[in-house]
Formats: sequence, structure tokens, C-alpha cells
Amino acid sequence: MSTLRFKALAELPFRDYRRDNAIEVPAKLSELYCSNVFSEDTMKQYLTKDAFTFLLDAMNKGSKIPRNIADQVAVAMKDWAMSKGATHYTHWFQPLTGATAEKHDSFFTPLEGGKAIERFAGGMLIQQEPDASSFPNGGIRNTFEARGYTAWDPTSPAFIMGTTLCIPSIFISYTGETLDYKAPLLRALHSIDEAATSVMQYFDKSITKVTPTLGWEQEYFLIDSALYKSRPDLVLTGKTLLGHSPAKGQQLDDHYFGSIPTRVMNYMKEVEIECMKLGIPVTTRHNEVAPNQFELAPMFEEANVAVDHNSLLMDIMARIAHKHHFNVLFHEKPFAGVNGSGKHNNWSLSTDKGENLLSPGKNPKKNLQFLTYFVNTIKAVHDYADMLRAAIASASNDHRLGANEAPPAIISVFIGSQLYNVLMELEKVTEGKLSPDEKTDLKLNVVGKIPEILLDNTDRNRTSPFAFTGNKFEIRAVGSSANCAETMIVMNAIVAKQLKDFKVEVEALIESGLKKDEAIFNILREYIKDSKNIMFEGDGYSDDWAKEAEKRGLNNLRTTPEALASELDQKFVDLYADLEIFTHREVEARNEIKLEKYSTVIDIEARVLADIARNHIIPSALNYQNRLIENVKGLKEIFPDDEFRVLAKEQMSLIANISGNVSTIKLGVENLLEAKGKARDTAGSQTQAEAYCKDVIPFFETIRTAADNLEMMVDDELWPLTKYREMLFTR
Ligand code: ADP
Ligand code: MG
Repeated sequence: MSTLRFKALAELPFRDYRRDNAIEVPAKLSELYCSNVFSEDTMKQYLTKDAFTFLLDAMNKGSKIPRNIADQVAVAMKDWAMSKGATHYTHWFQPLTGATAEKHDSFFTPLEGGKAIERFAGGMLIQQEPDASSFPNGGIRNTFEARGYTAWDPTSPAFIMGTTLCIPSIFISYTGETLDYKAPLLRALHSIDEAATSVMQYFDKSITKVTPTLGWEQEYFLIDSALYKSRPDLVLTGKTLLGHSPAKGQQLDDHYFGSIPTRVMNYMKEVEIECMKLGIPVTTRHNEVAPNQFELAPMFEEANVAVDHNSLLMDIMARIAHKHHFNVLFHEKPFAGVNGSGKHNNWSLSTDKGENLLSPGKNPKKNLQFLTYFVNTIKAVHDYADMLRAAIASASNDHRLGANEAPPAIISVFIGSQLYNVLMELEKVTEGKLSPDEKTDLKLNVVGKIPEILLDNTDRNRTSPFAFTGNKFEIRAVGSSANCAETMIVMNAIVAKQLKDFKVEVEALIESGLKKDEAIFNILREYIKDSKNIMFEGDGYSDDWAKEAEKRGLNNLRTTPEALASELDQKFVDLYADLEIFTHREVEARNEIKLEKYSTVIDIEARVLADIARNHIIPSALNYQNRLIENVKGLKEIFPDDEFRVLAKEQMSLIANISGNVSTIKLGVENLLEAKGKARDTAGSQTQAEAYCKDVIPFFETIRTAADNLEMMVDDELWPLTKYREMLFTR
């Protein structure tokens, strides 16, 4: 095994990254933009005016596409794709595995008499039937009824990857239940559009559509692929289960925003070129806090397209990494002792006139509009905090949340002290009708002041899971490997529900004789009172906050099983049913899938750790111990007793120390495997996940500590696992 480590290390000096992988970047990246996308511009070229109008309506208004038009669109897509060298097509979808899925079919169709043509018809564009029996379904589909189908989502443009035309699609069972991320996301987006547009009638009657926007920021690690392959834990679990932290980690803060290593730069350039062609508007790249950790972020986009683009990006990044002899790690905590990776989700609402509803305006009326969406969002997060917490729960994200590098598992909202003061002023608004004086005062001194406040509002609280950052909310606890849809479904669903309730309440006050503005102020005041306890401006990483949050009655769901248990609360199930996003059965099925995934991940990690500890660590330690024993025996032969005792003292103590750590590992592995066996046999997915969490996970630490001790004792030449310093500082 140690030979694998040294073979891997020996490959490094021979990589000529600079020359072999130097990437030529065109002078104007913009010229590549969308060149592999069936964009509006391309559609115009390839479609009749009629077909183009139908497709545009389907994209913007969700109207149905008649079959003959679908046929025309299919032919146009095929002609365009073939002109770009495509030979196959696929419905590209996002099943609940977390990865993207595709099944390629050829355009090639044989005809009679040995002839053949390239064919792609409307039916093939609209629907495909992948053999779906092996995707997670949480018991929704019986194995005998394994069929599912994918259906074209015209609101996200088709694109070409390699020689395949990819058609973004939803994935549903034959009985109509959703089996993917996109289908419920589209429903949630529809709900919030309805709710936000309806509230918008108070402020601007010309608005007919509100679209949520999403700007994600993707963090990742890059590890040399030879070193990656030499670590069975990285290959099998995406993270290192062992490894002593290097003498130098991130203490010097010298990686963050530092100059990007040439080899990494070449990789980034190639990723960006690919992104441009696929219409992913990446704009930002930089080093992150941990060594060999980086970040990439695009311009924000309409949420559905942004979600697709993030999934697509993760796919592209993994593939291009191989070309540069890298492996990209999206795991939330691949290395202990240095920061893990997250994926901030910046979220806002935008009207069909391009106005950002979370951006304060130029006059008091616009600011009341801003405050309406702002306060409703806070109220939604307050009332449904556990849903948001559950949306970011995963075995891998558990390592990050609350570990002083990412927000805690307590959901709180940060809005900055000045906006907080505005809300406190609003909380004082008189009940019922407002006097003319109060109205003027509100206009001039409270609502009217908001843009000025935000202009010089430099408050940035990196410790908050949900922070307002000037014109959007930033959801900061999302894991780097997550599909953004998970958070976006919850976020848009809860705000939709909240805005619907708001409208009903305001209408009731207007009925009772209040003016529109008075009614709005009255309701907002109550919302601020109700949700005040979730607003927190201090240090989210501190222990004091955990105590304070408990006093405030905020939940601190530290682990995934705890977080997922809340998903089945009647309140949440009802919300989804009301908005027609998920049926009760779908909520249960998804919850089941997530719990099972959690248990499976821990189970695999336990097996891999047991294997490495027993087959790699213990033999190497004993090997080294034998050398020491030989040495001690030799000393005893040549020296008189009293001298020998002095000379062999350190070796003897090392021999004992190695034995101690070896026994700890051996016992730890036995306990781990026993606990794992019991957990595996536990009935009920919730109870099972809890068993893995409480009974299995603690042994990881015991074994790791002993193994990491041994790493510090054993001769480097004999150590089998590639070390942290080798993985983290090779560039
Ligand atoms: P940081 O959070 O790293 O300090 P910025 O505040 O500049 O950086 O923005 C981060 C992200 O916010 C970007 O990815 C950007 O696309 C996104 N963003 C900006 N405006 C919006 C918006 N209206 N809706 C959604 N995302 C947005
Ligand atoms: Mg950010």
C-alpha cells in the first residue's frame, strides 16, 4: 500500500501543467456565450415565427405546446444540434440521487431497404422513458411497476454536451408522483409567482409575473488525481476518514484571495470556456480559505435555470478536472482541521419589468413595497425555520454546520442593525387607523430613509445562516454538494404561503375600513412582533448564541436525523398540499429517501474506515514496531544492562505507545462494526438514522485519533496513506 502512496507522489514532478494544459482564452469570452445553447436567438433562426411565438409563450407563461408545434421545434433542435456535430439526444434530469442523469438515444433511424435517416419528432422531445427502476423513490414505485417518464421543461433551454443534445426534463412516476428536484421546484416557482404577483397589485397593477432569482456560489477542492487515487477513503466516500493535520494548514490565512496557482488557473479557464458555451454566466473565481480550496460564482439567473446551471457546472467541473490530472471534491468536509465547502444561495424576487422586489426604491411607496416582501420573507423563515433547516441537512453537511466555519444549525436572520432599527420603528405603528402626523412621520423618517441606510450599510455577518445583503437574502448554510433545488423549493414555497396569508389578512383589514397603506402597516407590525426572536445580529459561532437561541425558543437541530424528523410535521405537510407542491405521500417518500441516504453514507464510511484501519494502518504500525523491537534486541546484545536501559528507553516507550494505539484501533473497529450491524438491523428509517448517528459515528473519532497518533510515530517511508500536507499543498 505504501508503494501506492510513493508511486503517486513520484508522478507529481513529471506533470508539465504549464505547457500541456495551457488554455488559450479567446479575446472575447462573450463571443462564445450560449454557442451550445438552443437560445432564443437560435430559436428565431431555426423556427417559423408561429412556432417561435408558441415556444416563447410556453417559456414565459407556461402555456401548452400543441403537438404539431412540438414536431417543428424538435426538427429545429435536431437540425441545429446536428450542425454542431450532435448525433444523440437525451432527456437530462436530476433524480434524487443528487447527480444528474441522462440516457442517450441516437437520431439515427433505419428505414427499409438498408437506408437510414436522422430523425427527431415532437413525441421524442416531449417525453422519454428511461428504465427508472434504479432511481431512489422512497417506496413510491413498486418494483413491478417500475416505469417512470421524463418530460421536457421548455423553460430551461436545451444544450449540447459533447455530441449529445440535452433536453432539461422533469422525472415523474407513471402514477404522477415527482421523483426528481425539478418538478417540485417548478411547482414552487409557480406558487410564488402567483402569490407575489397578487401582492404586487397593491403597488403596481401592471405587473403580471414575479420570478425568483438565484445566484449560487460554489466552493470546491482540487486534489491531484494521482494522490486522490492513492486514498481509498477519498475515492469511496469523497472525504478523508483519517489523516493528521499538516503543520501548516490555514493558520496564516495566506490562501484566501491569494494568487491562483497556474495549474489551477488553466483548469478554471477551461471550465469557464465550457460554461460560456453552455450559457452559464460565470463571472467570479478565487481562492478560498483552506489550502487547495476555490470558489466559482456566476451572475444570478431565474431560479430554475440557475439550478440547472449549477448541476450542469458540477458535472462539467468533474469532467474537465480529469484533463488536468485533478479530482474536484464537492464534499462538505473532505479534510478535518481546515474549512469545508458550502454553496451560498443568494435569493431574491424579480418582476416582469426587471425590478428587484428586495431592493429598496427611490420613494416611500417603493419602500413600502420593499418592506412588504422583506418582512414577509422574514416571517416565512420564522414560521418555517425547521423546513429550511431540513432542506440543508445531509450526512456530509453535518460536519460543517456549527463547526465554527459555517453557520450553526440554528436558523436565524441577519438584517443589519440599521434595518433592524427600521423594523423596531414599524413595530410601534399605532393599531388601526393612523393619524395624518404619524403617516407623514412614517413616510419621511422611517420608510423614506431606507435607501440611504442601505447605501452605507456595510454590515456583513458571515456567521448568519440567512443574511440580508443589500438587495437579496443569502442562504449561507447550504452544502457544497447539494442540489440547489432542495433549498429553493422550500424557500419559494414558504414565502409563497406567507404572501398568500398576507394578502388575505390585508384584504380583511381593508374590508373593515382601513386604507390600503394602513392595512399593510398594521399587518407588517404584527409580523415584526411575531418574528422578532429569529433576528440575530451577533456572532452565530459563539456558544452564547446557542444558549440565547434556546431561551428564545429557536430550534437547534444539530444532526440530520433531528432535522429530518421535523419534515413530517403536519404544518409542513399541509403547506405543501395547499400549494400543490407535494402530496402527503411525496413528502413521506422524500423524507424516507433522505434518511436512507444518510444511513447508507454512514454505513459505507464505517466499512471503509474499518477496512483502512485494519488492513493498512495496523499492519504498517506493527511493521514499524517490529523494526524498533529488532533495534532494541540489537542494543541489548551489544551493551551492558545499565547502558542498554538508557539507550533503549525512547524505543521501548514508542513500542508501548504503538501497541496502545493499535489496541485502541482494534477495539474501536470491533465496536464500530458491532454498532453498525445493529444500526443496519434497526427497523424504521428514522430510528435507523438515529442509531447510525448516536451509536456508530462516535467510534469514527476514537479510531481516527489513534490512527493519526500513529501517523506521527511511524517512519514516513512505511506510512501507507498519502498525507494531508501532500494532498493540500500540491498545486
Ligand atoms: P459575496 O456574497 O461573495 O460577498 P456578492 O454580494 O457580490 O458576493 O454577490 C454574491 C452573489 O449574489 C453572486 O453570485 C450574485 O449572482 C448574487 N446576486 C446578486 N444579486 C442577486 C439577486 N438579485 N438575486 C439573486 N442573486 C443575486
Ligand atoms: Mg456570498
